[in-house]
Amino acid sequence: MFSFENHSTNKPKMTAIRNDWTREEVQKIYHTPLMDLIHQASLVHRQNNDATEIQMCTLLSVKTGGCSEDCNYCSQSARYSTEVKSEKLLEVQETLETAKKAKEAGSTRFCMGAAWSGVKDNADFDRILEMVRSVRSLGLEVCCTLGMLSPEQAKRLCEAGLSAYNHNLDTSEEFYPNIVTTRTYQDRLDTINNVQAAGISLCSGSIIGMGESHDVRIDFLHTLATLQLHPESVPINSLVAIEGTPLEQQTRVPIEDVVRMVATARILMPKSIVRLSAGRTEMGLAEQALCFMAGANSLFTGDKLLTTPNPEFSDDHQMMNTLGLTPRQAFKEDSQWKSETVPVQPKVDTRIPEPSMA
Ligand code: SF4
Repeated sequence: MFSFENHSTNKPKMTAIRNDWTREEVQKIYHTPLMDLIHQASLVHRQNNDATEIQMCTLLSVKTGGCSEDCNYCSQSARYSTEVKSEKLLEVQETLETAKKAKEAGSTRFCMGAAWSGVKDNADFDRILEMVRSVRSLGLEVCCTLGMLSPEQAKRLCEAGLSAYNHNLDTSEEFYPNIVTTRTYQDRLDTINNVQAAGISLCSGSIIGMGESHDVRIDFLHTLATLQLHPESVPINSLVAIEGTPLEQQTRVPIEDVVRMVATARILMPKSIVRLSAGRTEMGLAEQALCFMAGANSLFTGDKLLTTPNPEFSDDHQMMNTLGLTPRQAFKEDSQWKSETVPVQPKVDTRIPEPSMA
C-alpha cells in the first residue's frame, strides 16, 4: 500500500527491492490501464528517488563500424550496407577532449562505445583502459560498452576505475534469435554476470519497436527484474530504423508503449536509473515529460548516440528548465550497485500495490 507523498525531500518508506517477481505479476503490472500505471510508477519513483533529478550521460563512439555481429537494428554491423563506415579506435586525447566538453555541458557520466563483438586482450584494450583512467580523472562516472567481456577483462576495467558497463539484453530470450544470430542470449547473460562479479555496476536495457509483441517485452522485463542484482541503470531505447539494416522498414514505436515500458521498469526496479535513450528526437517535450512522470530519470545527452541522432545539449537544458528538473550529481548512491552489496531479498506481499490518497 502506498501513502501518497510527492515532496522529494520528505520521502515515505522505500519500496522493497525484489528480484522474485513472477512472470504473472510483471504481466499484470505491464497491462495496468495506462494512466493508473503512470500514477503507480510515479509514486514508486518518488518513494525511492529524488524525482527532480535527471542523470545526464554522454555517449561517444570510440570505435565506429565494421562489427562482425549481425544485430538487425545496427548501422555498425559490417554485414549491412549503411552510411556508417568502419573507423579506427580513437586516440585517448581525442576522447578526453570530448569528455571535457560533455562535463562542461553538465554530463556526469561519460560512456564509450566500441563496435566490437567482444574485447580482445590487445593494444586496443590497453588504450580503452587508459581512456577509462583519463576520463575518470576528470571526476566523471565512466561507462563502456565493448561487447562480450571475460571475468579477467571485467576486473581490469574495474581496476581502471570503470563505474558501469553497458550490455543490453535488448529483448526476450525467445525473440532474441529474430534479432541476432551470431551470439546467444546466454552469451549476454554470461557477460552481465562477469560485469557484476567484478564489482562494476551494470547498465542493461531494451530496444522496443523491433517487431516484438507485448509478451516479448514482458519476458524481457521479467528477466531483467529477476537478476540477483538489478541493473544500476536500464536504458529504454526506441528503435531508430536505419536504412540498409534488416529493420529499416519498422515504423516508429508509439509513445504509449515507451511510457508503459518506463513505468513497468520503474515499478519492478524501484532504485534503478531508468534512462530514455535512442528515439528521443521523435519525442516532444510533453511526451518526454510523461516518461519522467512514469519514472525515467536519466537521459543520453549530446547530438549523437553512437551513430544515431539525439537532441542537442541546449534543447535538453531548455526542457529540463521548463520541467523544473536538475542534473543528478556524479557518484550518487553508486555503492549499492556493487555485487558485494547485493541486498538480501525480502519476502514481500506479491500484490500490485494500490495507491491511496492520504
Ligand atoms: S549492436 Fe554492437 S555488437 Fe551488434 S552489430 Fe552493432 S556494434 Fe556490433
